Amino acid sequence: MAWTDLLPQLPYLQMDSIHQKDQQVLITLVSTREIDQCPTCHTCSQAGHGWFTRCIHSLPCSGQTVTFLVHARRFRCLNPACPRKSFREDLSMLALRYQRRTPAATCLLSSLAAIAGGQAGACLARQLSLPTSRSTLLRCLLRQVVVPSSNPQVVGVDDFAWTKRRRYGTILVDLQTHRVLALLADCEVETVAAWFRHHPSVQIVTRDRSLTFSDAIRRGAPQALHIADRFHLHMNAMGCLETVLTREQVTLHRVVATLRDEHRKAYPPPEPAPLVSEQQRSMRRARRYARYEQVVQLHTQGWSQRAIAQEVGLHPQTVAIYLNAGQFPERAPHPARSHAIQPYLEYLRQRWEQAEHNGRLLFEEIRAQGYPAGLTEVYVTIQPWRTHGPTASLARANVVEHSPSYSPKQTLWLLFKEKPTAEEQRFVPRILEQSQVIARAYKYICRFRQILTERDETALHPWAYEAEASQIPELLRFVQRLRLDWEAVENALLFASSQGQVEGQVNRLKVFKRQGYGRASCALLQARLVGASELYRT
Ligand SMILES: [Zn+2]
Repeated sequence: MAWTDLLPQLPYLQMDSIHQKDQQVLITLVSTREIDQCPTCHTCSQAGHGWFTRCIHSLPCSGQTVTFLVHARRFRCLNPACPRKSFREDLSMLALRYQRRTPAATCLLSSLAAIAGGQAGACLARQLSLPTSRSTLLRCLLRQVVVPSSNPQVVGVDDFAWTKRRRYGTILVDLQTHRVLALLADCEVETVAAWFRHHPSVQIVTRDRSLTFSDAIRRGAPQALHIADRFHLHMNAMGCLETVLTREQVTLHRVVATLRDEHRKAYPPPEPAPLVSEQQRSMRRARRYARYEQVVQLHTQGWSQRAIAQEVGLHPQTVAIYLNAGQFPERAPHPARSHAIQPYLEYLRQRWEQAEHNGRLLFEEIRAQGYPAGLTEVYVTIQPWRTHGPTASLARANVVEHSPSYSPKQTLWLLFKEKPTAEEQRFVPRILEQSQVIARAYKYICRFRQILTERDETALHPWAYEAEASQIPELLRFVQRLRLDWEAVENALLFASSQGQVEGQVNRLKVFKRQGYGRASCALLQARLVGASELYRT
């Protein structure tokens, strides 16, 4: 087998020599062409005008870079009307005009840029014996990858954050071909509507329940059918139940206190010494209470939640929690610590009483016995022993461990947990028994989730009427918001399309955005997303 058999079939080019030096293979090719067409006037010419040399990089071979050194011909254009006097012979079978790489090498580089980005892609390219700079790699990607022109019919639209809570962009995905169609720099109504105006083929659009998108789609694609995403509807329903639980926080605390009392009666602990002074605790509570009062006062004066957050110096979400709670939300006690150290407490106590108070030594000793967790856990455990002694501290830890407290969010997830612990099994029925409001809201939300899961559109209207008649304000607000977008909600039950793919593309987008340390432009992110989705499809 000859060396030339390894090379691609190149008409009009004859191999002259092969040199190998310093991990480089240099293949010299000489043209045998005698006639060619002028690229401007397409007149054929045999009149030679000289020779030129062109250097073209190809894919590497056995870890060595491969370069073609092509000696090719220059011809004179014989058409007197043509503005071009001479032209170079066509070498497009090897590389396109003005390109320094074969199409296969360019394709590999742009794939690396799409998957790994500029810097990481350049490192990988060097490892693959195709050294190039990160800027060249990104140029390759931007030139090579273009959004395929298509007539999408089913489109998913969603927003993504450039900067969370400040600036958002829009992503559009073809749900039939699983391709990213466009990345828009913002999510203004007019920008999104303009995109839809340029794509009149769109028949179905899936989206979350953002009013911006529904307005934009109505303006840009009035013919399109709107489908609200079922996952977002699930989350909205859960959010509604969470607001009910936040309002009923007093009941949650009462149930926890009752369970704690019952536990204390069953297993009376020795009187624990307080670890944080009561005075400090009440001072902190007073500070929180003053801030709560200020928030409520500003709210009654008509201040917006954002303005209140800025004025009082709280997070906007905390302000929302304060205002939704209806009364001062007490802080839950710290949850029980990890159980990893539990089996070693008795040994630690014995060593402590033998006057071994060095945390690191104690840690080394229990680690030798198989203790799986870290040093910090040991330090945190023995810290109160220094002031209160091990016996009193352990008694207190025992009380804390068996007295869990649940926030509204934790309670929400407990209500739907498939395999609750024994403790949670006691807590959940007690909550539903103690608060009629929670029990009724829970029943309505469970039914709504069932309707969504079974996609039972006939049950939606009766459910909405019943929920409105329930007199639970949070539920009433939830149904009112559903009614604002009723057609899309109904379509969510009638059609199988969902936002799943769009959310997946948004996740990939977030990875790419962070790989570029937030410096990637909208065009580059779009090229990477399109390039990557093409690669994953093949
Ligand atoms: Zn010409």
